[in-house]
Amino acid sequence: MSGVQLKSIVKAYGALQVVHGIDLEVAEKEFVVLVGPSGCGKSTTLRMIAGLEEISDGELKIDGRLVNQVAPKDRDVAMVFQNYALYPHLNVAQNIGFGLRIRKEPMTKIDAAVKEVSTILGLTEYLDRRPADLSGGQRQRVAMGRAIVRRPKVFLFDEPLSNLDAKLRTQMRAEIKRLHNRLGVTSIYVTHDQVEAMTLADRIVVMNNGRIEQIGTPMELFLNPANAFVAGFLGAPPMNQINAVIADGAHGPVAQFGGQQIALPPLPGLQNAVGRPVIVGIRPEYAEIATGAGEGVVQCDLDLVETLGSEALLHMSLGDTPFVIRTETLGNMANLSSVAGFTAKTDLIKVFDAKTGMALSGQTRVA
Ligand code: ADP
Ligand code: MG
Repeated sequence: MSGVQLKSIVKAYGALQVVHGIDLEVAEKEFVVLVGPSGCGKSTTLRMIAGLEEISDGELKIDGRLVNQVAPKDRDVAMVFQNYALYPHLNVAQNIGFGLRIRKEPMTKIDAAVKEVSTILGLTEYLDRRPADLSGGQRQRVAMGRAIVRRPKVFLFDEPLSNLDAKLRTQMRAEIKRLHNRLGVTSIYVTHDQVEAMTLADRIVVMNNGRIEQIGTPMELFLNPANAFVAGFLGAPPMNQINAVIADGAHGPVAQFGGQQIALPPLPGLQNAVGRPVIVGIRPEYAEIATGAGEGVVQCDLDLVETLGSEALLHMSLGDTPFVIRTETLGNMANLSSVAGFTAKTDLIKVFDAKTGMALSGQTRVA
């Protein structure tokens, strides 16, 4: 019974409910990322775990102990915020050691802990500086140091990298991951950035409108999104989604749209599928470019080629539906401007119910 457990956790502000009964078990040492669009309830959920927001209903356990009514300082968690929340009048050493001083730890112990943590974070040269005299990345490290030094059972991160520029963000992301590999502290990390979620998480929790859409490893969610929302949220560019209707093909089900069709994977448990409106999902990475008509080619119009270096993004249109193909540039450059369609491997095509958005196709193996 370690880690963090959320059972039917609800948050309401007066009559307005914003988190609708969340169930989540975070294992000891696990790194779990809550991801979802702005306003979906990520911060609220994290703040309930930290004790900064009251829990309206449900049970929260940390290390097996019910903590709904336990004060934040007694929950043994440390939180890192987007704005760092450093004390401007204290220097780096004092900021890092602050939590220990509040706990009235002996000075020698505080000094030793600050030294150890600042070494881990590469802050030893800056111990006498105040936050105003640090770069964004250094401030972020001090905020991390302040959390680490307390040796909490759980780290809570709320968009800790959002104030950094793109390059520093990528660098700090890797540092956070290394730090977690080294310290192994149970972590819950909130972000709206699906790349951070994919790269940091042992497991991702996709949230939407105060509910959990799906929980799984990054690759499980990437390959087998439970619904069209998750399919559209994870992956950049996101999975292409084409509105279609199921028909009987010569070798199994096909999806028909705009006078064209594409072969579908088996749809387990789906009876009388013919005529059913569906969304066909094809990742930009799993569509192959085609320059002419041919067996299995879906014809579309080329709008725009974006060359990124090793890869290019081809922005196509299928009538009114946009369709993006991601392709290698080496050996392909001469063809890109004459791309007239795509083919897709049947077993990598996803099918979702058009009304509910729920996945109808079977599982792609994470190998
Ligand atoms: P996220 O972190 O996913 O962007 P939040 O958890 O901050 O979202 O907010 C979830 C929802 O709760 C939002 O619709 C927000 O407007 C609402 N909310 C947050 N704090 C309050 C509050 N104090 N009173 C009323 N509504 C709030
Ligand atoms: Mg937030």
